[in-house]
Amino acid sequence: MEFIESISGLRARLSDERCRALVPTMGALHAGHLSLIDAARTAAGGRATVIMSVFVNPLQFGPGEDFTRYPRDIAADRAKASDVDILFAPGTEELYPQSGAPPIRVIPELEPPRWEAAIRPGHFAGVLTVVAKLFNIVQPQIAVFGQKDIQQATYLRAMVQALDFPIRIIVAPIIREPDGLAMSSRNVYLSTDERARALALSRALAAANDQWKAGERTTAALEAAGKAVLEATPGVEIDYFAVAEPKKLEPVGEATAGSVVMVAARVGRTRLLDNLILGQ
Ligand code: AMP
Repeated sequence: MEFIESISGLRARLSDERCRALVPTMGALHAGHLSLIDAARTAAGGRATVIMSVFVNPLQFGPGEDFTRYPRDIAADRAKASDVDILFAPGTEELYPQSGAPPIRVIPELEPPRWEAAIRPGHFAGVLTVVAKLFNIVQPQIAVFGQKDIQQATYLRAMVQALDFPIRIIVAPIIREPDGLAMSSRNVYLSTDERARALALSRALAAANDQWKAGERTTAALEAAGKAVLEATPGVEIDYFAVAEPKKLEPVGEATAGSVVMVAARVGRTRLLDNLILGQ
């Protein structure tokens, strides 16, 4: 694995590479991130140079969010990402030399803003802007993201389509802890007690899925089953628990195979996301 911190260094290194697969992350790597490397290699038939980026993007954090305390451990990330060809870890100055705020951004105008977009205004503009920059720097044919952030993946697909990036987006499955908790860099924030309560998210999704498997198709009933689990867990505050269609993640009255059940909830000070695709 090569470790590169500058845009010019990465461009020089990639100049002769014809097939490139990009895996963008914010670091604090876990097995979920590492699964994306395998997905990148598989998608490229083993022929790609796989570039993983590690960059905690200030643009996608709102005021009062966890940008300053977000876990950062580049030495551990270098050890864990030994299977990538290149680990690209630019500093903030390298990606945003205009002292933090780029004068031009990619702003999604998918109306109305729903779910994460409604709760975190500016978040997806931050994500799309940094990913557009990474796309232009790396010029990959393939980019791999996790279903864990399914709304992000939906925005990225929309960006690639709207701005004609010649890039195939791959969305890889959610990797979970043995007890069902979706892996996340933010799980380190959880106390032992909160870690136990956080299982309510995956249990709530499982409850909705059980209803689906039993033949229930009404979204309101599926949502009620999931919310009941969350409401029965003290210390867990629901932001939303919703069933949406898979393309644009718009709400639906009747669930079908492929509909996405999404949950966002706060456990203490930690906001957690999870989701499940019905019929998978
Ligand atoms: P992050 O570092 O949290 O920005 O995540 C970087 C990429 O890893 C995103 O595409 C995430 O969706 C993906 N990811 C995060 N957690 C998981 C997980 N548990 N399983 C699979 N992919 C994940």
